[in-house]
Amino acid sequence: MTAPVSIRNATKTFGDFTALDDVSLDIAAGEFIVLLGPSGCGKTTLLSLLGGFLSPTKGVIEIAGRDMGDVPPARRPTTTMFQDYALFPHMTLRDNVAFGLKMRNVAKRERQTKAEELLDMVGLKASAGKKPHELSGGQRQRVALARALAVEPDVLLLDEPLGALDLKLRRQMQDELKAIQKRVGTTFVHVTHDQEEAMAIADRIVVMNAGKIEDVGRPEDIYMRPRTLFSARFMGEVNFIPGTLEALSNESISVKTVLGAVTLPNAALGDQALKPGQKITLAIRPEHFRASTGTGPRITLGKAKVEDGSFFGTHHRAHLSPLDYPDMVITAHMPQSAIIEPGAWVDLTIDPASVVILPGHPAATAQ
Ligand code: ATP
Repeated sequence: MTAPVSIRNATKTFGDFTALDDVSLDIAAGEFIVLLGPSGCGKTTLLSLLGGFLSPTKGVIEIAGRDMGDVPPARRPTTTMFQDYALFPHMTLRDNVAFGLKMRNVAKRERQTKAEELLDMVGLKASAGKKPHELSGGQRQRVALARALAVEPDVLLLDEPLGALDLKLRRQMQDELKAIQKRVGTTFVHVTHDQEEAMAIADRIVVMNAGKIEDVGRPEDIYMRPRTLFSARFMGEVNFIPGTLEALSNESISVKTVLGAVTLPNAALGDQALKPGQKITLAIRPEHFRASTGTGPRITLGKAKVEDGSFFGTHHRAHLSPLDYPDMVITAHMPQSAIIEPGAWVDLTIDPASVVILPGHPAATAQ
């Protein structure tokens, strides 16, 4: 019902194009893993290597400790759920869900009981006798999930399963998917390019870019402490302030940026080994700028002029141009009570603990 997955140095080339480049990843049994990245980054290719629809050009895929090298899709302990659901239109929901069990010669009574149990789990027990065309998009998606789980795969592979749903239904189905995954305990590997979806459902997110893994971690870790410029930007709005690492000690790091010099706690580096003289970028989320009246530790990156602001209920979202670098646009969330007027000057004040130092400068990376 559940199994660990190990991907070791997997490379997949199509002709002279490298779709996956030396990817390694360990997934624990029962984990909900989300592969997140822009179109063409290799998410589906990686999923297809796990399902056996593609073979790696190099590298090893192990599921439940077994090398899957010569194992065809049907013999793998995996099931793949695609976006188009592919339900059988002429069959009832019960028969759709029981279909995989029929193929495995499970007795009729047993498979019907199992199908009804699963339809109950996805909230569709009362509709067991209906046909797919009588259902909404969200309901069809639930039937597809019940059908995929009926054969009790160790690992369920989901390729943008919520992609066809409208936003409201999509958010609702994310909660349901997560709850069902926790209930059945099956390892889920889910592909999406929607960063909010990834944050809502994943135990761990794998951020992919151009065939490589950029970052792996719990949603809050990747959002708060991304390891690369790409990962920081892909996970949400962020301000990049380029600079140079000047000096580092056991406690603190001195950096010189285009907005002046600052000293940050050592934790700003995370687990990165950077050296003095290296080009770095400070990554600061809009909500980490503070109003100058706030309390607690703070550093300032000088003054900035308010260009415009919009009220979002919970906060104001303002665009600011720094005095020392007017071409830069800083996006900052200011408290509800702040008065944001174009032309006003504010301090660019931040809690040093919220700043992340990343290697490189934004212009030098593919965004
Ligand atoms: P999307 O979100 O658009 O589905 P993806 O991240 O899932 O994107 P993949 O489908 O894994 O991306 O494709 C990765 C790259 O490999 C793309 O540039 C794609 O064009 C290429 N590719 C995938 N399959 C093949 C194939 N059979 N032959 C040639 N190139 C391929």
